Amino acid sequence: MILMRLNDILDAVTSYAPEADLDLLMRAYVYSARAHAGQLRKSGEPYLIHPIAVAGLLANLQMDVDTIATGLLHDTMEDCLATRDELAEQFGSVVADMVDGVTKIGKLEFRSKEEAQAENFRKLVLAMSADIRIILVKLADRLHNMRTMEHMKADRQRAISQETIDIYAPIANRLGLSTVKTELEELCFRYLHPDTYDSMVAKLGAGEAERTQYIDSVCSNLNEHFTNRNFHPRVYGRPKNLYSVYRKMLEQNLEFEQVHDLLGFRVIVTDIGECYVALGLIHASFRHLPAKLKDYIANPKSNGYQSLHTVVMGPENRQIEIQIRTADMHRVAEVGIAAHWRYKEGHLALSSEDISKIAKLRTLFEAANEVDDPSEFLETVKVDLFSEEIFAFTPQGDVKFFPRGATVLDFAYAIHTEVGNHCSGCIVNGRMVPLKYVLSNGDSVEIITKTDQNPHRDWLQIAKTGRALSKIRRHIREEVREKGRTIGRDLLETELKKRRFSLNKMLKSNEIKLAARQFGFRQPDQLFLALAQGDLGMNRILKELLPADALDVEETEESENAIVTFINKIRRRSESPVLINGQEDVLVSYARCCSPLPGEPVSGYITRGRGITVHVGNCPQLLAMESERRIPVEWQRSVKGQHSGELRLICSNEPGMLAEIGNTCKTSGINVTRLEATSIEDNKACLYLEVSVHDVEELSKLIRHLEKIKGVLSADRIRAAQADNQSSA
Ligand code: MN
Repeated sequence: MILMRLNDILDAVTSYAPEADLDLLMRAYVYSARAHAGQLRKSGEPYLIHPIAVAGLLANLQMDVDTIATGLLHDTMEDCLATRDELAEQFGSVVADMVDGVTKIGKLEFRSKEEAQAENFRKLVLAMSADIRIILVKLADRLHNMRTMEHMKADRQRAISQETIDIYAPIANRLGLSTVKTELEELCFRYLHPDTYDSMVAKLGAGEAERTQYIDSVCSNLNEHFTNRNFHPRVYGRPKNLYSVYRKMLEQNLEFEQVHDLLGFRVIVTDIGECYVALGLIHASFRHLPAKLKDYIANPKSNGYQSLHTVVMGPENRQIEIQIRTADMHRVAEVGIAAHWRYKEGHLALSSEDISKIAKLRTLFEAANEVDDPSEFLETVKVDLFSEEIFAFTPQGDVKFFPRGATVLDFAYAIHTEVGNHCSGCIVNGRMVPLKYVLSNGDSVEIITKTDQNPHRDWLQIAKTGRALSKIRRHIREEVREKGRTIGRDLLETELKKRRFSLNKMLKSNEIKLAARQFGFRQPDQLFLALAQGDLGMNRILKELLPADALDVEETEESENAIVTFINKIRRRSESPVLINGQEDVLVSYARCCSPLPGEPVSGYITRGRGITVHVGNCPQLLAMESERRIPVEWQRSVKGQHSGELRLICSNEPGMLAEIGNTCKTSGINVTRLEATSIEDNKACLYLEVSVHDVEELSKLIRHLEKIKGVLSADRIRAAQADNQSSA
């Protein structure tokens, strides 16, 4: 029986690649048979059935012999301790690397906690970008395992199905392997929701005769229209797969009976021109729903899928979906990326067009891989890989693909990191738009850059793609670090100077580097940063750097004075205020006692080791502290970020009051972050409201609007200190 299956594979390969190296396949088969000799599957069958079935699936996808040989050998390293070198010697390094890749993916666990999962996913993506055929073998492996799960325990079946539906089915979809994706989903559905699955199968079974009849009548109806015009495409209909019906039921909250379009039809023609002819004929014969017409021929999906989709009113007024495509498009639609490995004269040959399609997929995977933090990674990859996509054009007419919801800022980063970092404006379809403009299909986008433009923290709210987010985060992180390094360096320089040592000399002589090493840092820069962030004390560094007799200069006050000196230094002239931009960083934080808002008069206080804390000018807490540590600060002309403001409202205690207040905030475009109400005497209520605003002006405007509400007696801004007093009183 097993031998027959090998012959099936050889026959299949010969049919699409007459001159393929069948010898390689036979040798791989013999090797695998020896390696797995005596091993049994859970079902009691010889293990060899599995690699042969995997190779068979790959032959059905018309893959090259290297990939099919990998299918035969894919479990030999894992189970039987074959080595990469041994495989390389016998089957070449391409096959050996692929087997190695499949084995590594096989060891990844996708069910552990989020962090580990993210890291594993990163490895999976890496493996895929090394050679995309590896994932095809892995998908075939998973498909055969899913097909033969009935001998496993129920919890194991569910775990494998969950992993498959989370990870492998979306990848199959992204690669355009719709036949594999559909079968994986159907199997997962069966194991994850057995009751629903069974009841749907039963309902479908009940309507089968009627359905077959309906399909036949639509097909002959279509054929009649086509034949009248002397046009002979292949027409067929099929029920939609259960999982997609189930998803539609969930998404639109429908009952099984209400999901009308259980039927889909296909028209397969010979060339692109005929696709549009067929569409025209169909629209001439049936009423179509214009909103549902999709032209994936002019605008292919990024996995290469092309077809025309239309929805028409069929007989008995039932909506039916018809997909029109050429035979070539059909193959791509069924096997996606696998369609690109073609045999020409016995050799594997890719057209330049195919190569660029594969390159595009690879960029996608690689971009996903540039994220630094594993937990960020999974999120962004899920957005990039698995969400529905849209496309937009560069001024040169190149097409770029994005997940739905992506903005022009994502577009800028898709062109180049530098274009993204310096993106200052954007023209879409000839019109200036803000960076948060959400891309629509077919937009033509031109990015304007300025060299003095740099990423802002709020860009993290605007960008949606993993690529853009990781680049922005990286830039901001680097900016903050750079600032910290300068601060730390200056602090140390001042202290050394006091003791008549020169930082520059100590840098040149590598003394600083050696000291940094003592604290576990590779470079002096890391030492400076640690000093500025307060992770490492000045005294410890000095002790490491200087001889004992140079240390005892004004031991207690020294590092404090250093910060004052330093801050005065960055003010350049000590009269000019420190400019603050509304964000917190290594140097600047905002006092919680008075929560200053941009636009209010403020004053800075130099803390011990944590830079400047910004208070409102008349904050009692500030006035109570050492005055010599106070330092003038001023808001920069354009401030950034959200700040929290607190309000106290006294209003009459009547129904609808809260809704009215909430609504006023909403129409003012202001987010409420906290709301507490207590009833007080005289049928009144006291409301404590915390909102998020950009500046004091925005908060004042909100107060004016709130005061206008009928029933509101007073609305006042309060500060945290007051709020605490009140609650304790
Ligand atoms: Mn396997």
